[in-house]
Formats: sequence, structure tokens, C-alpha cells
Amino acid sequence: MPALPPALVDAMRSALGERARPGEPLARHTSFRIGGPAELLVLPAGVDELAVVLRAAADAGVRVTLLGGGSNLLVGDGGIRGVVVKLGRGFRQVEWTERTDDVGLRAGAAVQLGQLARASAERSLAGLEYAEGIPGTVGGALFMNAGAYGGDVAGAVEAVEGLEANGVARVLSDGNLAFRYRRAEVPRGFVVTAVRFRLRHDAGAAVRARLAEARTRRLASQPQGDANAGSVFKNPAGDHAGRLIESAGLKGRRAGRARISERHANVIVNEGGARAADVKALMDLAQRVVWERSGVWLEPEVQLVGSW
Ligand SMILES: Cc1cc2nc3c(=O)[nH]c(=O)nc-3n(C[C@H](O)[C@H](O)[C@H](O)COP(=O)(O)OP(=O)(O)OC[C@H]3O[C@@H](n4cnc5c(N)ncnc54)[C@H](O)[C@@H]3O)c2cc1C
Repeated sequence: MPALPPALVDAMRSALGERARPGEPLARHTSFRIGGPAELLVLPAGVDELAVVLRAAADAGVRVTLLGGGSNLLVGDGGIRGVVVKLGRGFRQVEWTERTDDVGLRAGAAVQLGQLARASAERSLAGLEYAEGIPGTVGGALFMNAGAYGGDVAGAVEAVEGLEANGVARVLSDGNLAFRYRRAEVPRGFVVTAVRFRLRHDAGAAVRARLAEARTRRLASQPQGDANAGSVFKNPAGDHAGRLIESAGLKGRRAGRARISERHANVIVNEGGARAADVKALMDLAQRVVWERSGVWLEPEVQLVGSW
């Protein structure tokens, strides 16, 4: 991958002004509060600007990395080379459409998923209750097929709007959109700009009760206070990564300023000033010890990006 051409940086700065930031520390943009600098962080305000950025990067052969709310990312201490894109204010619109049998919801990729779940519950609409308390954006949640307590994004998605890596607009739906556990199968380099959901009318009290239950379960099981990125590993079939790590005796283990949470063994917390390498060391330890004890190889759920 070639270094970022100075002409590209200049072009981005003249097109986006202070929304093109060379050397921006990514620790400011991740829930772990960890990560070295982006070679260039850009915050396009809308789809047209995003298309300009993607085309320019594609023409220059430069890598593009998408950043949503940064709540599922471990960014290397060496930062991210190339262009890092974080979608800005033009991607926060929400539209509701009453239809014969259900309600269509179109949400921009930068909308917070948890806020969308609460706004839907206020309208007595079912389909997103599980998402109460999941931080991050609609775009990141779609890409990750985020979920909890038996629900996931895939369960209510009708179509996905976005741009291909070369900046061309495309809508993905039934035939060309598939989901797996914690992953959407979208074309390589596809940038989600909005998601269209299908929600159902239900009794308001029932929807709000399911939302409250998700909140209660989350508060009971997750560490509060320290920076983290939620579950570090995917649950292996028929088991829980947290149970395996706990039974391997790793709760409370430290590397530098990172620690495997005592509250939930599948969460690593930053006690303040942790490096990505500290978190990675704990992940490697958990994978190795769980493999030795249980014969299960834990697969990361957190996305490791950038230079290590
Ligand atoms: C306290 C806590 C609790 C959590 N609980 C849960 C949970 O219960 N269930 C769960 O599934 N997750 C959970 N997570 C993880 C995380 O919140 C989800 O994975 C979330 O959906 C990530 O969204 P994000 O916007 O932060 O994405 P990011 O972390 O910024 O990015 C995640 C991935 O999506 C890609 N991406 C982001 N935006 C776009 C876009 N617009 N187009 C294309 N690709 C994009 C990124 O490149 C990256 O590969 C938790 C995290 C924390 C910190």
C-alpha cells in the first residue's frame, strides 16, 4: 500500500477544511480510548462528500478504513495508515414510514443504535429492543450484525444503502445481502450510509418491558466505568467465551494497564493509559490458555485494525 500522497491530503483539506485531520489520535474515537494516529481522518458531512473521498482514495490506491462509534475496534498503537473515514452529521437522519402491515424506518449510518431502539420503543414499535445499551452506530452495528439476548440487526433489516469502494451508490437487499453471527456479508470496501429497517406495531408496554429487561441484564453483567469494547471474543457454538475464560482462571489478569474484567471475563478493560499491545497480550493469553484447557480456539469479535 503506497504512502498517502501529499496531494491527496491537500485536496481533502481544501474540500473538507477542518474535517480532514492528518495525524488525528484515534484514541479519541474508540470506546477503549486506545489507538495511535490516523494518517488522515476525514469526516464527510454527507453522501456527496463521502463519494469524493472514496473516489480520490481509490484513484490513489490508498487504503480506506471505516470508523463508526469505535466501540468494537482495537486500533494498533502505530495507528492506521491511509484514510480513516468517520461519517458526520449528514448521516444522522431518521425517517419513519407507516405502511399497511408494518412501519419502515430509515436511519443514517451515524445514528446511535441504542437511541434508535429507545425512539422505536416510544412509538410502540418492536424489532430493536435487544439493542438497548449497545453503543455504536447503525453503520457499525450493520457491519457487525450486532446483537444481544437473542436478537440481532439482521432480524429487522430490509435493505442497506451505501457506496462501493469506488464511490458508486448501491442498495443491498434480499438477493445480495446476507448475515452471519456478528458479521454482515457486504462487498469488500462497501460503506454503509443508511439502513432500512422493518418494525412491527406492538403493545407499548410490552416493547418497553423488553427494552427495560435488556437494560437490566446488561447492567447486571457488564463492567461499569472502565473503558472497554464489549465482548472481546465471539461465543463459540454452544458455549460462552466468558465462561471459558473464567474457568481458565484468567479473571483479573493484567498486562500493562489492561485487565480481564472480574465482572465479565469476556471483557478487557483499560484502567487508564493501556496500549493496544497490552490488550492484544491478554487476548493472546486467553486464546492460548483456553485452547490448552478446553480445546476451543476463541475467535476475536473485536476488530483489530492498524499497525502493531
Ligand atoms: C460496553 C459495550 C457493550 C457492547 N455490547 C454489545 C452487544 O451486546 N452486542 C454486540 O453485538 N456488540 C456489543 N458491543 C460492541 C459494539 O458496540 C458493536 O459491535 C457495535 O455495533 C459497533 O458499532 P460502531 O459504530 O462502534 O462500529 P466500530 O467499532 O466503529 O466498527 C466496527 C466495524 O464496522 C465497520 N464499520 C463501521 N461503520 C461502518 C460503515 N458505515 N460502513 C461499513 N463499515 C463500517 C468498521 O470498519 C469495523 O470493521 C459492545 C461494546 C461496548 C463498548
